[in-house]
Amino acid sequence: MAKLYYEKDADPGIIRGRKVAVIGYGSQGHAHALNLAESGVDVRVALREGSSSKTKAEEAGLRVLGIAEAADEADVIMLLLPDTEQASVYESQIAPHLRDGDVLMFAHGFNIHFRQIVPPAGVDVAMVAPKGPGHLVRRTYTEGGGVPSLVAVAQDASGRARDIALSYADAIGATRAGVLDTTFAEETETDLFGEQVVLCGGLTALARAGFETLVEAGYQPESAYFECLHELKLIVDLMYEQGISGMRFSISDTAEYGDMTRGPRVIDDHVRQTMRQILADIRSGAFAEEWIAENKAGRPRFEALRKEGAEHPVEVVGAELRAMMPFISSGHQRLQDVSGG
Ligand code: NAD
Ligand code: MG
Repeated sequence: MAKLYYEKDADPGIIRGRKVAVIGYGSQGHAHALNLAESGVDVRVALREGSSSKTKAEEAGLRVLGIAEAADEADVIMLLLPDTEQASVYESQIAPHLRDGDVLMFAHGFNIHFRQIVPPAGVDVAMVAPKGPGHLVRRTYTEGGGVPSLVAVAQDASGRARDIALSYADAIGATRAGVLDTTFAEETETDLFGEQVVLCGGLTALARAGFETLVEAGYQPESAYFECLHELKLIVDLMYEQGISGMRFSISDTAEYGDMTRGPRVIDDHVRQTMRQILADIRSGAFAEEWIAENKAGRPRFEALRKEGAEHPVEVVGAELRAMMPFISSGHQRLQDVSGG
């Protein structure tokens, strides 16, 4: 049985007795820093020289320092930079300031699991990974709730790493929702698998392939867009609220029969075999190696694919249709405002 922690399992006093540095003020960084501060934690935000987030963080009442300075001052360091930037910033500005007894924390396991960052033996290495975007970590906290999170320990030099991580999770509101005990390996591998196979890769490829099939057969791109992309949200909302059976309860019997008989033909044995291969590439480190090399080369393939994706007909027709639905684009605008930094 999985182990879940709630408020009663965390000691809020532990993290209040430490000096915490939140490195980065993006999606996760702003949410962690503000929630920690409001939970009574001595928190400082660390930004690079000339960062545009400095004013924002200071206006929110937070103390802002340089990264090396914050790493030196703090004894709990939460790294909330993009995963592809963490290793070089760690090497140059954090590692030189780590002392035995410090705690190095992450919100995703990639760099520890794939050994891009190898902290010294005297340091605790832990993870508190919210299972939701930063703006929700912030908003749910202000509403008295929290976002479910994962907690894991990769290195327990002090013998108290899990208690410290749980206390941190409590201070960002996560124990109000539930904190699941896991490992860096499980978090990293399932996170990559989920985004590649289901949530992002599988879903976008499915929507595009369905759209292309209808357009190729001569149907209007507008019809294809509504069918294969716009309606997805309505179905996903039902699954999110009530599971797959609950969603099926709300659709017509015709839709349900088509779902149950045709779905397994789309996601057939061949697709499942591909899923296993993708998982194997994640577990062997082959995906990580490929992505790290792509970054070192300046991201040529990433940029080309991003451009190609943005020019796809489903995007062109979608932009026109969404422009007629201002309630959707205003929601998007709100999201933009709170993420990135
Ligand atoms: P982000 O891209 O929103 O923010 C990163 C911040 O780092 C920005 O303020 C940016 O200006 C700054 N930055 C970028 N490069 C830098 C550099 N070289 N030196 C100094 N500062 C730099 O990142 P994020 O999405 O909040 O992700 C942070 C961590 O949280 C990652 O490990 C990610 O996997 C994890 N995570 C993110 C989410 C999410 O919802 N975005 C959810 C769970 C876990
Ligand atoms: Mg994820």
